[in-house]
Amino acid sequence: MASFRYRCFDCGRTFERDQVRYLCPHCGQTYRPGQPLAGVLEALYDYKYIAFKFKKKNPDWSLFSAVDPKHFPNFPVGNTPLIRAERLGQELGFNDLWIKNDGLNPSGSLKDRASFLVVAEANRQGENRIVTASTGNAASALAAVCAAAGKQAIIFVPKSAPKAKLVQIVLYGARVVLVDGTYDDAFRLSLEYTQQRGGLNRNTAYHPLTIEGKKTVALEIFAQNGFQPPDAVVVPVGDGVIISGVYKGFWDLQQAKLIKRIPRLICIQAATSDAIHHFIKTGKYRNAHKPHTIADSISVRTPSNAHLAKRAVDASGGFSLTVTDREMLAAQSLLAKASGIFAEPAAAATVAGLVKIRKDHTLPRTAQIVLLITGHGLKDVDAPLNAIHLPKPVAPKLSAVRGI
Ligand SMILES: [Zn+2]
Repeated sequence: MASFRYRCFDCGRTFERDQVRYLCPHCGQTYRPGQPLAGVLEALYDYKYIAFKFKKKNPDWSLFSAVDPKHFPNFPVGNTPLIRAERLGQELGFNDLWIKNDGLNPSGSLKDRASFLVVAEANRQGENRIVTASTGNAASALAAVCAAAGKQAIIFVPKSAPKAKLVQIVLYGARVVLVDGTYDDAFRLSLEYTQQRGGLNRNTAYHPLTIEGKKTVALEIFAQNGFQPPDAVVVPVGDGVIISGVYKGFWDLQQAKLIKRIPRLICIQAATSDAIHHFIKTGKYRNAHKPHTIADSISVRTPSNAHLAKRAVDASGGFSLTVTDREMLAAQSLLAKASGIFAEPAAAATVAGLVKIRKDHTLPRTAQIVLLITGHGLKDVDAPLNAIHLPKPVAPKLSAVRGI
């Protein structure tokens, strides 16, 4: 592995890795609940060393890892398929469309990548209790990795979290606090918990290695695409950490001189949960007014990583748009029928976004586009259940089977 230091996104101060744990000690103090995090830390590696050591013929990915693989839990995550989506591409009018299906991670979402690395860090630090707030996916991911690693996960989730995710969390053996409030309330409560009762806090972006864990999806896209960056990656955005992680992965590759350009990163938010979209469009931050959407994974009033998410979109030459619940449900159905992939509504938001991109001609038809599918559809069947018609039972005789 390569050595790294943390750098504060806001003030640029750098720190030895064990000098700090969460936010920049200077800027983090200005953070107040109800605002995006201040003083988020980024890991900066010795890129000259990586450039010297990394060989495409026999790639050593641990060069890009913040934690030595000897601390990794025995619970492989990632290495999900990058699939050419030819039929979906024909439907949408793009002829080089790909899907990175991260719903195939062990707990069913991309969040396994972040939880995996934070649990590895907990191993390194000798921490046995790991705490997180989540809309559901990060919680089930942390609960799963903790179960594999023999650690105690303590989870704060809003009571509105989909049942399948709650079932996962409980079955994996986590201690669950069901918060009678929003995700933002759960986030604040989990911070108070670790400040007063200890444990390692895995909150997204608050623990800097969540971004490092999520960046591995970009490293994989690069490798699976013949060691080339695609033209664009379409990412569903809630808290803004996945898109920041995707950016960080490609940025690391660029710093190590393995790629010349970073793909355009396209931010897709739910129309009612649009704080980052509004920030990108206007340059002015405000919270989402009423972040109620069927896409629970991207439902957030105050996205913790708004500043890094905006930077990811701006610096990559990308753009942002929003989609409605109805558009997400239609896209979920289209994706399933045209690719065989059942994605949760938040992940299907990428397809809904692409429908708009096609209409607006904001990406060329020939661009190589990767849709990032961040969560499996089985995590929330209630959302599509209201949008489909299940057949009525028939008598078990062929004459009763009509019209098929
Ligand atoms: Zn700072």
